[in-house]
Amino acid sequence: MPESSKLHTEKTILRQYHLRQRKRMERSLVWDLSCRIQRRLLDLTFFSRACTVGLYAPLGNEVDTQMLCEEKLGGGGVVAYPGVMHQNMEYVRYSSDCAWVAGAFGILQPHVETQQYTECVVAPEHFDVVVVPGVAFDRSGSRLGYGKGFYDRYLPQCRAQCVFVGLAYDFQLEDRLPCEGHDVYLDYVVTEKETIECTAVRHCLSD
Ligand code: ADP
Ligand code: MG
Repeated sequence: MPESSKLHTEKTILRQYHLRQRKRMERSLVWDLSCRIQRRLLDLTFFSRACTVGLYAPLGNEVDTQMLCEEKLGGGGVVAYPGVMHQNMEYVRYSSDCAWVAGAFGILQPHVETQQYTECVVAPEHFDVVVVPGVAFDRSGSRLGYGKGFYDRYLPQCRAQCVFVGLAYDFQLEDRLPCEGHDVYLDYVVTEKETIECTAVRHCLSD
């Protein structure tokens, strides 16, 4: 079997396993662990200093990001959420009076009028931090998503200084994830138990 098909199959098996595990979580546990994970991130200097932050609206039992949003908006920062536009991901600015609308894959995104869409888009080079969801992560910063590669296509457009953070429950950590050339490495993975710094790996691999 060619190496690429082998990696693809390994990813598919891991995705199914991790999605099943996450689906089993009680809502109260999702809430409790999400609070702990977000508090950990809020205590990190790079996050508290960030002016423009990309978040995500959680799908199913994904780690929640609401505390991060409230904290950033309260401090006068810019918060944006992704949606899919013409097969690609784009981030739209959120403010506390925005309504939410279900976009591609049923993921919520801030509702903006068509005429205002362009001015509400936050370009990738504006982000200081992008917080990403994932199905599984490892300590090197490797991330397994849903298998559509949206973040792998979007993140390389951000500035080199932009910090990429994955939010995960401890059980979503794998020793070593299968990784392909297009996969984008994260700088940090934050779980309820630890903050994993992966920075050296991302910069080393992209050199
Ligand atoms: P995910 O990161 O969502 O788990 P994968 O890494 O398996 O998904 O990628 C899914 C698909 O997206 C792959 O078939 C891959 O070829 C495509 N893809 C990812 N990144 C890029 C990119 N930068 N350019 C072109 N295609 C990409
Ligand atoms: Mg990938």
